[in-house]
Amino acid sequence: MRETGCPEETLFSFLSRKRREDLGYRNILSSMCTPPHPVAARAHAMFLETNLGDPGLFPGTADLERLLVRRLGALTHLPLAGGYATSGGTESNIQAFRIAKKRKPTRSPNVVVPESGHFSFQKASDILGIEVRAAPLDAEFRMDVDAVDGLMDKDTIALIGIAGTTEYGMIDPIAHLSDLALDREVFLHVDAAFGGMVIPFLDRQIPFDFRLPGVDSISIDPHKMGMSTIPAGCLLVRDPEYFSSLNVDTPYLTVKQEYTLAGTRPGAPVAAAVAVLEYLGLEGMRAVVAGCMENTRRLIEGMETLGYERAVTPDVNVATFSGDRVPATWRVSRTRAGHMRIVCMPHVDRDVIEAFLEDMSGLDA
Ligand code: PLP
Repeated sequence: MRETGCPEETLFSFLSRKRREDLGYRNILSSMCTPPHPVAARAHAMFLETNLGDPGLFPGTADLERLLVRRLGALTHLPLAGGYATSGGTESNIQAFRIAKKRKPTRSPNVVVPESGHFSFQKASDILGIEVRAAPLDAEFRMDVDAVDGLMDKDTIALIGIAGTTEYGMIDPIAHLSDLALDREVFLHVDAAFGGMVIPFLDRQIPFDFRLPGVDSISIDPHKMGMSTIPAGCLLVRDPEYFSSLNVDTPYLTVKQEYTLAGTRPGAPVAAAVAVLEYLGLEGMRAVVAGCMENTRRLIEGMETLGYERAVTPDVNVATFSGDRVPATWRVSRTRAGHMRIVCMPHVDRDVIEAFLEDMSGLDA
């Protein structure tokens, strides 16, 4: 660290230089994040110093967190769901594993996760000493639920379904998983970190949430399609009591116990997430999602015209193709199976899609 402080102007020109090294979102087609909605940025700035880890000091912000949980609970058909704001899908998935482990103590616990599961499940497995059993996928990259039964045993503490897979944008057969979970009396967690802010706004209703009686918990991330600031995730649970098994005593805070994973927690992205939901309402969110889905369809059609085959027709706004070359100005990503992957986030608008297709037409498919 410097002995004497740096003049403010020098400091900020250093920071600006660093910021200019970052890529602008316009040509980023690989991310599940997007620039925050203007109301999110404004709300975030208002709540900069708030700490939800000590809610008694910030009762207004804590109220906004409860409002966020109520709104997301209503969206997932359980207005009285329990929940709290996490740092994102990773933390929500880890916490869901913790709950499942507490609910069914066993010497060598395992969970069944589809092969399409996000790598956060590996982290949860490592931290908590839980074996992850990978369930195969069907031809459309959805969890093959018929294979799940054979992977379960008396030490299976949870089943995981994905609603909006990271790589292919598919929704697992959650209704089928829900039946299995009820039948085998096992905890069912739905990772809707991405799809949770898409599926409720689609024209076609696809069951993935608390409407299905076997679903116990859901990860859902406002900092992805919710256009909040980062980090804004949410873990919802069917019964707020589920959290009590995670409680630890917190002697020096304004609350006596806490069940969250993080201690100090930012209120700013929570205010930002609420701001977007309130500002846009259902109507506004449906319009955003309809635009992203339309752009996904246009991208797929345009790519196929150029000779790039789709890997699958996605349920949400993630498109995947054969082919591996893209002009260097564009950022796309690759799935584990080697497909080119493009996420049609709100910043990937129609002009961006057309510009990308135009550049792709200069290459040989
Ligand atoms: N789950 C799914 C389905 C995801 O797509 C992601 C991230 O892309 C995560 C979990 C992890 O979310 P985060 O990076 O916010 O921790």
